[in-house]
Amino acid sequence: MRILAVEDEDRLLGILQRTLKAEGFSVDGVTTAHDALEHVKLNHYDLIILDLQLPDGSGTTLLRQLRQQQRKMPVLILTARGDIDSKIENFEAGADDYLTKPFALAELMIRVQALLRRGPLIQENILKVENLELNRLTRQVRRGGKRIELSPKEYSLLEYLFLHAGRTLSRSMIVERIWTNPSKGSPISWMSILAICAIKSMKASSPN
Ligand code: CA
Repeated sequence: MRILAVEDEDRLLGILQRTLKAEGFSVDGVTTAHDALEHVKLNHYDLIILDLQLPDGSGTTLLRQLRQQQRKMPVLILTARGDIDSKIENFEAGADDYLTKPFALAELMIRVQALLRRGPLIQENILKVENLELNRLTRQVRRGGKRIELSPKEYSLLEYLFLHAGRTLSRSMIVERIWTNPSKGSPISWMSILAICAIKSMKASSPN
């Protein structure tokens, strides 16, 4: 699970990153709205923790931009503003949860885990590229409507490629994400995974 923390107070950002990493999450930290948008363009995040007052704009505006871009990951607002107007405005902008500073780290973690259990909106669980369809809930892959059996590693790789469709991924990015111990696995390219899918779908459609 990968989390993006958007917070311009360096000390708090450091605490968030350390706490989330200690819980086993992969965490990126940014201090501006601009950097947050750039990171979201390049990476898949399962959750965003978002401060409202950022040096180059408001977190609310950033949240609206993300939702306009159809980015459906849960967003947890973390702010000193505890007034009801701000809460309403941000929930209407697409926030999933709202926590006011100061807060207890234990409460933050409970909320993060609750949001991650809920996951993105259901629409994002069906990913499609041409006639290839991947269901993130059932971990099933279909090509032209026919089911393709993939090993867990092949599935993870295909899902990662789907989530980054249209982007250039380096070999090291793929290896780092898919193989926890790179020395035990060999990198696979887009072409290889498409070849695997093509061969498996041929098998699936053959009479025997
Ligand atoms: Ca701030």
